[in-house]
Amino acid sequence: MLQGKTALVTGSTSGIGLGLAKALARQGANIVLNGFGDIDGARAELLAIGVQVAYHGADMGRMADIEDLMKYSAAQFGRVDILVNNAGIQHVDDVQDFPPARWDAVIAINLTSAFHTARLALPAMRSANWGRIINLASVHGLVGSAGKSAYVAAKHGLVGLTKVIALENATTGVTCNAICPGWVLTPLVQQQVDAKAVQHGLSNEQAKQQLLREKEPSMQFTTPEELGELALFLCSPAANNVRGVAWNMDGGWAAQ
Ligand code: NAD
Repeated sequence: MLQGKTALVTGSTSGIGLGLAKALARQGANIVLNGFGDIDGARAELLAIGVQVAYHGADMGRMADIEDLMKYSAAQFGRVDILVNNAGIQHVDDVQDFPPARWDAVIAINLTSAFHTARLALPAMRSANWGRIINLASVHGLVGSAGKSAYVAAKHGLVGLTKVIALENATTGVTCNAICPGWVLTPLVQQQVDAKAVQHGLSNEQAKQQLLREKEPSMQFTTPEELGELALFLCSPAANNVRGVAWNMDGGWAAQ
């Protein structure tokens, strides 16, 4: 379905980003990888699928890095057809204790980066009259949780940005939508499981169950593979007129 297309997935060396990159690659898209950590492992998994893979180590909190990433992607593959804004970080503290530098970092990486990648990807998408922008927001783009002020503000902002990009391109072949997962058991969430285990003297399994019980009626984690299938639908011709939605995959979290 996506042969000859190029997908840039930010923060794709682990977790959800890697899951989405693999789903897109299985449909034939060449991938621009980004992120830190096990870069070689992520690259090897994608190369094994049989697509071309490029890597750029932009820090998505820095505009100059993002501009370089977008230039690099165009130089490697001509243009970015599918832009997945996925890189994200979390910091948990009540507002009065929230370190201002962490606020700035969460807003920069989780929200502002998507403005920069989109503004730089849109001209080529519009001239090709085809493009998909998928923003990895969160159920926290739809509802709040105590302790997550910067994350909730960034994700609500990302849902708003999604709607505006969708509207500005509504008469073109470029769509923009957001995906809003509940809990997905990635390194980002394992840190929160670990914190809960220490705080309450729980085992890893007990802490996972407690995390789910607090928020997710299905008592199940969403998987990167399930999110990959949703991203593929958004890239498919059937989704040509799906524009500006924030689609939650959250086990009923936001339905409460
Ligand atoms: P993760 O920690 O497993 O992966 C994050 C990725 O982003 C990694 O590849 C990391 O290297 C990269 N990254 C972090 N900071 C970066 C930076 N400054 N520049 C470039 N790359 C950077 O996290 P995840 O759980 O896979 O989260 C991916 C996205 O999904 C995030 O936007 C997160 O907010 C969102 N999300 C996650 C969950 C969940 O339960 N895990 C739920 C809802 C939304």
